Amino acid sequence: MQYQSTRDKSVRVASAYAIKTGLAADGGLYVPEQIPKLSLSEIAALAPMSYNDRAVNILSRFLTDFSEEEVTTCVNRAYSKEKFETVEIAPLFKLAQGVYFLELWHGPTCAFKDMALQILPHLLKRSIEKTGETKEVVILVATSGDTGKAALEGFRDVEGTRIIVFYPADGVSDVQKRQMVTQEGNNVDVAAVSGNFDDAQSGVKQIFTDNEYADVLARNNFLLSSANSINWGRLVPQIVYYFSSYASMLKNEEITLGEKVNFVVPTGNFGDILAAYYAKEMGLPVAKLICASNENNVLTDFINTGVYDRNRSFKTTTSPSMDILISSNLERFLFHVTGGDDARVSAWMKDLKDAGRYEVPELTKNKIKEIFWGGFCDDAETFAQIDSVNREFGYVMDTHTAVAKGVYDKYVKETGDETKTVIVSTASPFKFSDSVLSAIQGEDATEGKDPFDLLDELAQTTGLLIPQGLSGLREKPVIFTAVCEKTEMYDVVSHMLNLA
Ligand SMILES: *Cc1c(COP(=O)(O)O)cnc(C)c1O
Repeated sequence: MQYQSTRDKSVRVASAYAIKTGLAADGGLYVPEQIPKLSLSEIAALAPMSYNDRAVNILSRFLTDFSEEEVTTCVNRAYSKEKFETVEIAPLFKLAQGVYFLELWHGPTCAFKDMALQILPHLLKRSIEKTGETKEVVILVATSGDTGKAALEGFRDVEGTRIIVFYPADGVSDVQKRQMVTQEGNNVDVAAVSGNFDDAQSGVKQIFTDNEYADVLARNNFLLSSANSINWGRLVPQIVYYFSSYASMLKNEEITLGEKVNFVVPTGNFGDILAAYYAKEMGLPVAKLICASNENNVLTDFINTGVYDRNRSFKTTTSPSMDILISSNLERFLFHVTGGDDARVSAWMKDLKDAGRYEVPELTKNKIKEIFWGGFCDDAETFAQIDSVNREFGYVMDTHTAVAKGVYDKYVKETGDETKTVIVSTASPFKFSDSVLSAIQGEDATEGKDPFDLLDELAQTTGLLIPQGLSGLREKPVIFTAVCEKTEMYDVVSHMLNLA
């Protein structure tokens, strides 16, 4: 199978090349030329399988230039007992009749980014070998919080790679920041950028699309690549858990083969929900994809009006990994939903860059509404969800998952839909202890307290164990203290790579 650029269909590359380079040279994203289909009997065959076997099955359909043995090796290195706290890897929790949480945070950094970033380095390493590449690959990451740590953890000490992470100085939690600035490994670097996530992301994108700078790097034997969800190698592993959750529901006799389910996805960069869209296009029986946003509700408006408009004030919320106004992966969806209209996609992306806005025609808008339902929750609603679900069910959600639950409730209220629904749970509540405790015990309970004491307090209050990746964080020495302006990001990269 070949991959095309969303901005120029005539660009066609194998998956190894797409994964190695991350972004197409024209600034477009790589998408599969055809979307592979599974029959219902092929879906049924996933039910008795382990997570890893399900992953090999799904990934092999996309990574056709990899041997099955290569895919298997990558999968087994990523989803292992050493890295994940549960053998199920992505367990389902049944909250109530017909409502489930898909817990994607049992990996080393306690957020769903591990699902992709534990495997990406292995896929990338193979991709480098397959394409005969001799340069050292430099991974540049802009993070809204969880990606950075998950990428650092995934790439640390992976031979032939270096990783540089930029995080927004305003807009990651204390725990997220501490996780990153204490990162160990001989190939890692971390810097803060003054500003928010969009500043960091657009800075990284600019470096990526700068051909002159690419030449400078090449002369020094470096090649840039991306671990952001614009990289196909990041996105494709996320398709697996949608199939896996459906297979688990079949196995547990929660559904019958072919029965449609809804997925609710707390959304920022549109990566996770795009993976759900691919799963649906591949034949997974999906009814509605419910796109949940926080107050940065640019996607809610887009789904409801067909106008994507980032000209609005950026809000720092208690679900920081969703504080995003430019949802990069939407570009891939637009390509598919327009039947591969690369000229149109290019024009919209140009409008977005120049004017911060684009509008899709009625036909496209209607197609979008058939597939998605969009809603959002503000912080007060998010806290109320955490509190009420804890009271009613004794289940503790993090803030991102709570946004999804809140939007799901609004969806049910508006539509009366009783279709069985999987809510994607994207982070451990411990990762956002401050907010979670405030929601459960009131703001006074956390005010002025050390964020690391709050981990202990949340453990006491809920009777849950602090995940391994977070316990002991307080004692770890801080290694990275650099802060730069957006305009200085080039210098930071050059400096880190010792360029002349
Ligand atoms: C990244 C992240 C999201 C948003 O996922 P996207 O793929 O960017 O839409 C939601 N929740 C958490 C905890 C995250 O880390």
